This record gives sequence, C-alpha cells and structure tokens, in this order.
Amino acid sequence: MAETPKPAASLADRIGSKPLDAGSSSFTPGTSSWADEVASPVVEQKESESSLGDAQGDGTTEDMGGSGLHDAQYEVEVKLSDLQGDVNSPLFSVKTFEELGISEAVLKGMYGMNFRKPSKIQEKALPILLMNPPQNMIAQSQSGTGKTAAFVITILSRLDYTRPNQPQALCLAPSRELARQIEGVVRTIGQYVEGLTVQAAVPGAMERNTKVQSMVIVGTPGTAMDLIKRRQLDVSNMKVLCLDEADNMLDQQGLGDQCLRVKSMIPKIDQILLFSATFPDEVMTYAQQFSPGAAEIKLKRDELTVGGIKQMYMDCPSDEGKYDILAQLYGLMTIGSSIIFVKKRETASRIAERLTADGHKVVAIHGAFDGNDRDNILEQFRSGQAKVLITTNVLARGIDVSSVSMVINYDIPMKGRMDDSPDPETYLHRIGRTGRFGRVGVSISFVFDRKSFNALAEIAKHYNIDLIRLDQDDWDKTEHIVKTVIKSSRAGTNLQI
Ligand code: ADP
Ligand code: MG
Repeated sequence: MAETPKPAASLADRIGSKPLDAGSSSFTPGTSSWADEVASPVVEQKESESSLGDAQGDGTTEDMGGSGLHDAQYEVEVKLSDLQGDVNSPLFSVKTFEELGISEAVLKGMYGMNFRKPSKIQEKALPILLMNPPQNMIAQSQSGTGKTAAFVITILSRLDYTRPNQPQALCLAPSRELARQIEGVVRTIGQYVEGLTVQAAVPGAMERNTKVQSMVIVGTPGTAMDLIKRRQLDVSNMKVLCLDEADNMLDQQGLGDQCLRVKSMIPKIDQILLFSATFPDEVMTYAQQFSPGAAEIKLKRDELTVGGIKQMYMDCPSDEGKYDILAQLYGLMTIGSSIIFVKKRETASRIAERLTADGHKVVAIHGAFDGNDRDNILEQFRSGQAKVLITTNVLARGIDVSSVSMVINYDIPMKGRMDDSPDPETYLHRIGRTGRFGRVGVSISFVFDRKSFNALAEIAKHYNIDLIRLDQDDWDKTEHIVKTVIKSSRAGTNLQI
C-alpha cells in the first residue's frame, strides 16, 4: 500500500493564529505524529528559483567535510565576496580594513587569516572602537559575523607595548573553551605585533603564587576574580575590559555577580566593551550600567537569524524515541561535523556511548569533565578527528568550528532553574555554531510532546521564523528536504539578513 505523504507544514503555519493552543483538543501523546493533528495548510519547501549566475561559495578553502548534505550536483561555488557585496548581508561592507585605522602589524595578522573585507559589525564598530579618547561600546551582531576580531583588534590597539609584563586588557567569556579560543584569536591576529604577550585565566591554567605577567588576559570570570583577589593579577593598569557573550555574562542569575565583582576590583578602565549576538531587554539596562555611556550597535529581533542556517524540526514519537531518530539521521547522512545539544550531562554521555557503539566518531563535553580534558576533547573535534560533538549549554555560545554543518537540538533549550519557559537566546546561540561567516548549515530541533512543541513554537514566534518540518516516517523525503534546503541556501535565496 502506498503511503500517504504527510504535509510538510511549517511550524509557524501550524500554530498559525492560535499560537500555543493549536491542536490542544486533539492532542494525544504517543500517537505516531501527534503534531499532524493540528490542521494546517501544506507548505512545501520551495526549490530555489533564482538562477545562480555567479556561483556562491561558503568563503572557505576548507572542505566542508565531504558531507552527504552537500550533494555534488549543487556544489556551486558561492564566493564570500558575493555575500560581502550584498548590502543586505551582515557580512557586507563598503570599506576596507585599511580604511579603518588598523595598524600594519595587525592588518598583516588578519591577512594571514584570510580576512579580506570587514563584515558589517567590523566596519561599523571599529571606527568607534578605535576612537580617542576610548569609547565604551555595546555591540550586537549575528552569530558568526566576526565579533571576536572587532574586539581583539581594539584590544591590540590599546596596549602599551613598552610594558610587556603589565596586564592591560582583560577579556572574559562564559566557558573555558571560548576563553581559550579567543586567546588563540589574539595570538593569531597579533602574530606580527612585536612584544605582544597573552595568557589565559581559566581553571587549572595558573599555578598558585605566580603572577600574571602578560598584557592581554583572556579568561572566565570566576578564575579572573580569584586571581585578582589573590593579587596574582595586577589590575592597576587595566585599559580595556571586554565581555564576550555579554548578555550571558551579565545574567543576574548566572555570571553577572562575578563580572560585576571583577569590574569593581579594577580601579580605572578606559574602555568597557560588551559583545553578543543577543541582548534581551531585561539585560540591556544592566548592560548600559555596566558600560556607561556606551555607543550601541543593536539589531532588531527579526534581524537576528542567519540566512545560511536552515532551521528545521523533527516530530519524534517520544522522549526515548528521539535516540532512534538521531541514529537514523546519522545513518542516512554523512554529515561534515555536527553538534548535538542536550539538556543533561547524563544524556550527553549516554548518547555518546550509543553513537560510538554504532560506529560514529563521537566526543562529549560537559561540566563534569576536568578542564584540561575538556580542552583536549574539543581539540579532537576541531581537528576533525571526531565528527560529532555532544554537549550541554556550556558550549552553546561562541565556539567557532567552521566545518560544523549541522546542529541538533536533541532537547529544546529551556531557561531552567526556576523558570520553565523556552530560551530563545540559547536556541539562537546553539544553532549559530553552524553557518559561520557566510557558510551554510542546518539545524534540526527535536520535539516529542506538547510541551517541547509549544516551546519550539514560542521560539519560532519570538524570532518570527518558519521552521521546516521533517518527517520521521519518510526518510526519503527528509533527506530530500535537507538537501533541497542546502541547495536553496547555497543559491543565496534566503540571505536576507
Ligand atoms: P561571532 O563572534 O560574531 O559569532 P567569530 O568572531 O567567531 O564570530 O567569527 C566567525 C568566523 O569568521 C571566524 O572563523 C573568523 O575567523 C571569521 N572571520 C571574522 N571576520 C572575518 C572577515 N572579515 N573575513 C573573513 N572571515 C572572517
Ligand atoms: Mg563570538
């Protein structure tokens, strides 16, 4: 008997005018596809209609991993220069780096990284960031648009190179992995800057009773706070304080306290920089107090999503049934590199074991691992030795691995703690681990019951986005949709941001 194809309705369409109530009367958990009970129009994923004259590239010389997601037939080369010439792209700029007042040595470092033109945030922020007297700044820009370089260039331009042992800039990030990554960017962009000294302040990196003797310190707030308290880190000549993932860092329920304490221990700071892709309203007031008189570069909510990231979701039969879907998905497609986000550490370990047993090259990272182990594990993923990274929210932000072509939200991100509501910011950061600097990627969020469905629907509504539905019962179609999506995004049809 021929199977009746299920409608590929988008999530936003399905919740339609009755957002979070849709289907409530006929909701029956445990049926094969409960969400189908929601009456909705059929929305087929449109194939790209634009003829792709000049080809598009993902801007890399790297291979995207030989992934099955990138069908050879669609291997049209879309050049980064095309994206950077598109006024609507967050990678667009009219200026060159040379026009932005950056020193020769720093410019040389950037050319070494293959940066040719600034992105929008770099072009807009740098002239203000490099102004004298130094100006505070709150800067928002989509994931993967080069915020790191913007603040690293600023830091490098503020240092007194005659004092290589004097701490002068402190950059803080929410995870050790991100701090290490930023440390690496400082070293790379600064590789031709004579006399530059850089050091990480993450758990386990510093011996007790030794002094920090570098100009730039990149760390996590807890460790930085301890070092200052123990007088290992002299902050009397600090010129720049930069918080990456600033909304997360200032979160009153989380790291906010520590960051505030760090700031209050520094007698005088010339420039306070706050960077993130997200600044929810409730954090903004606090951010403005933290960085007084800051120049602000902000985005509207519906400008936040990155066109190169195609967002989909999968109806799963049950919470337990999610694993089978995952295994099937990995069996079906040989995806470059991918990250699976879960809520709990135990889930991460459990999935890692099962996928490993199925023959996949998997690593897991979460808070229960020792710090140095975490660095090594992430390195395996960065180098491509491991193709799948399973992790919790600890790595939801900032991590930049350009070969990541798929992100899976195995569990829909929820605020947690006392607040059982969906977390749109974490969702955006998680999916932002793919689609870096004009590359193409796919995100697949798993829903399995009314709560997870509604949570995802709320997130979609928050950003005013449509998610593409994948059908667990029709793998051919799922594969087709994923490939079509990659094709259409490669064709640059949805690079409206
Ligand atoms: P964000 O912090 O905005 O999410 P990152 O700073 O991590 O993004 O940058 C994303 C990627 O883009 C990195 O791999 C970085 O090296 C690259 N990149 C940044 N600026 C440029 C540029 N002007 N040209 C080309 N690549 C860039
Ligand atoms: Mg970043």
